[in-house]
Amino acid sequence: MGLAFPHSSHTKTAFIRVSPGLCQACRKCVEACPRDVLGMVHFFRHRHVHVDHASLCKGCRKCVRVCPSQAIEAFEKATVLL
Ligand code: SF4
Ligand code: SF4
Repeated sequence: MGLAFPHSSHTKTAFIRVSPGLCQACRKCVEACPRDVLGMVHFFRHRHVHVDHASLCKGCRKCVRVCPSQAIEAFEKATVLL
C-alpha cells in the first residue's frame, strides 16, 4: 500500500479541482474518468479521491457530473498548473 497525502498537485488539474473533505470515497469519478486521471487515497481511516495524473486530464467533466457530493468542481477556463 502506498502512502499519499493531499497536496496541490494531487487536488487539481488544468480543468478541475477536487475537495477531499467533501469526498465520500464512492469511486464514481474514478470509474467515469476516461483517462485514469483520478485515484483514491487509502491511508488508515482516510479514504478520498486524489489526482493521480493531472497532465492527462482533457476537461471532459464526466467526473464532475457523476459526483454525488459536489466534491469536484470545474474551472470556468483551463488554468495553468504551477
Ligand atoms: S475532467 Fe474528464 S479527463 Fe479530467 S479528471 Fe474529470 S473525467 Fe477525467
Ligand atoms: S465521485 Fe465524488 S464522492 Fe465519489 S469518490 Fe469521486 S470525488 Fe469522492
